[in-house]
Amino acid sequence: MNPFEKCPVCGGAMTTRQVEKILSGGGNTASLQVAAEVCLQCGEHLYTKSMVLSFEEIRRKLQAQEFSHFKRIGQSFTLEDGWPEKAAKPVP
Ligand SMILES: [Zn+2]
Repeated sequence: MNPFEKCPVCGGAMTTRQVEKILSGGGNTASLQVAAEVCLQCGEHLYTKSMVLSFEEIRRKLQAQEFSHFKRIGQSFTLEDGWPEKAAKPVP
């Protein structure tokens, strides 16, 4: 089933792919593999309505520091102050 027949951006043909999506909120990130419709011409990614709602729910949980349904796979970091490359700064 393909809910998107043509790319809304360029009119190109769409195909279903498994893609990695990274969501963040509250300084936390979650990586997931999801089905997306990908434009063969411009690379636009489209998701179903229920998938978009899932992304919103995941971002909300990350923001709220609520980690039920999440599995820890690593840690994420930002820089401390004083990194030698002055053009690189910690995220606020
Ligand atoms: Zn396109």
